[in-house]
Amino acid sequence: MILEEYKKRRKFNITSEPKAVVPQKNKSRFVIQEHNASHLHYDFRLEMPAELSGEKIVLKSWAIPKNIPLEPKTKRLAVQTEDHPVDYIDFKGEIPKGEYGAGTVKIWDKGKFKLLEREQDHIRFILKGVKARGEYILIKTRGFGGAQNSWLIFKAR
Ligand code: MN
Repeated sequence: MILEEYKKRRKFNITSEPKAVVPQKNKSRFVIQEHNASHLHYDFRLEMPAELSGEKIVLKSWAIPKNIPLEPKTKRLAVQTEDHPVDYIDFKGEIPKGEYGAGTVKIWDKGKFKLLEREQDHIRFILKGVKARGEYILIKTRGFGGAQNSWLIFKAR
């Protein structure tokens, strides 16, 4: 079920995070949210179909502990998290204490992106944000650091 994991983790009578709605039109946007939760991290989200060949648009999401690199050479760990509803792209504010992801969310950067390639284990795209710009590659690793859902993100030369 689409966005099932997202819904399961949240109480919408308590948190002000968007409810799980699935719009059909893909505007190819991205956002990077600075999330000051139990550990500071950056949530990187790409607006795209939930499945490779699907039509339901969600925000594919990764938590990046040290944020995306702004120069080539540096590879950063990106842990894939549950798909988020497209409305989440504008979310900022407080997630209440005791709730999943409790803490402060700020928008670090956002903009459009151009998808170059998408396969099951890698995605290539051009970010057109204010701070995050240029071609990036996300590659799924096999158990990097022992964690599942581990990817690496780096900037192309
Ligand atoms: Mn987060």
